[in-house]
Amino acid sequence: MRPQDVIRRKRDRGELSEDEIAFFVRGVTTGEWADYQAAALLMAIFLNGMSERERLALTAQMLRSGRTLDFSHISQPKVDKHSTGGVGDKTSLVLAPLAAALGLCVPMISGRGLGHTGGTLDKLEAIPGYRVRLSLDEFSAVLERVGFAMIGQTEEIAPADRKLYALRDVTATVESIPLIAASIMSKKLAEGLDGLVLDVKVGSGAFMKRRRDARALARALVEIGRGAAVRTVALLTYMDQPLGRAVGNALEVAEAIETLRGRGPRDLTHLCVELTAHMLVVGGTCDALERARQNARAGLRSGAGLEKLRQSIEAQGGNPSVVDDPSLLPRAQRVAELSSDEAGYVAALDAERVGVASMILGAGRVRVEDEIDPSVGIVLAKKIGDPVKRGETLARIHYNDERRLAEARDLLRSAYRFSDARPRRKGVIAEVIA
Ligand code: URA
Repeated sequence: MRPQDVIRRKRDRGELSEDEIAFFVRGVTTGEWADYQAAALLMAIFLNGMSERERLALTAQMLRSGRTLDFSHISQPKVDKHSTGGVGDKTSLVLAPLAAALGLCVPMISGRGLGHTGGTLDKLEAIPGYRVRLSLDEFSAVLERVGFAMIGQTEEIAPADRKLYALRDVTATVESIPLIAASIMSKKLAEGLDGLVLDVKVGSGAFMKRRRDARALARALVEIGRGAAVRTVALLTYMDQPLGRAVGNALEVAEAIETLRGRGPRDLTHLCVELTAHMLVVGGTCDALERARQNARAGLRSGAGLEKLRQSIEAQGGNPSVVDDPSLLPRAQRVAELSSDEAGYVAALDAERVGVASMILGAGRVRVEDEIDPSVGIVLAKKIGDPVKRGETLARIHYNDERRLAEARDLLRSAYRFSDARPRRKGVIAEVIA
């Protein structure tokens, strides 16, 4: 078999065999395929797509390129949630402890923020002392003791994905549904899961701006999960405005803690309850979704989820006192108010612009190696549907650098649009794909 024969078949819209896909993934991982050959095949896949059989084979081969974790010694069902990424999305910090308090084991391997989207690891690192780099043995020990653990991607898991992602990034082949689906699922299936809940974001702040693309991605992800015998469900959720009110790492941790106290913003609380409920159902600890929702709400009310978060912070080297006193989290030196020049209702609040404004303040990174400032960010006082008077505060900007403030403020202002009539409020969840 030669790389050019495999490339030619996909170029000519043929279906690749399992052996050809295995040859490609192995070749990329070992260097037997040159980068230009791998890039040519990636572009052919980007242009001509992949059948379900090909997607399953690609995922399986990428998974097999590294280690698969085995938590079979832990009796609780192993269930994770994965989000395709958004702005203000701190659901993992709420639902992982909540699901653990309700009897699931949540082995969560998370990512960092890039561009306008935030990442769970950056948020966790805003907690003084918190270590996201645990060895796989430490990960397993925390998981067993606490019921959930959160770490970053390791070298051992799906190494083919790291190589392929780097190539896709520089060859304009990231936005391909089969490639995204195989990339996400090869890493998630390595966690040795019984169930998986996917939060596929759609809207201005999401990877997928159009509903039909988000739906196609959700279907591809669910198909792969099913093909690997993992009970999988996907929720299509709106990301046309940020989730909750806080955007920025320490600010989001504080909001997650408030949510675990039962005092979180409505949209965030609702989504966390729904995602947790689906986790309980795919994990098999609840048969009915409504019952699972009641359990999730009860776990917030009783403080059981918050207690789990405290235990996990302690187990991963962080200062657990932040749970009782969020003022121990890093705080920006100054806060500026953005006030409204108009009166009416907030008609739109572009999530991507809010995310970029927060990134400009230092909360995110343009390049993977950029340093971030955990203390800065934005707290939205007004969201879509809220009435606004002229001069009223729209948002509070937490900043450390005067030079970054002006640019962030202008961008944040441009994220808001107003109308005279109250716009119809949309729920957070667009669709469930099971
Ligand atoms: N997230 C991933 O892990 N992979 C992709 O290809 C896109 C988003």
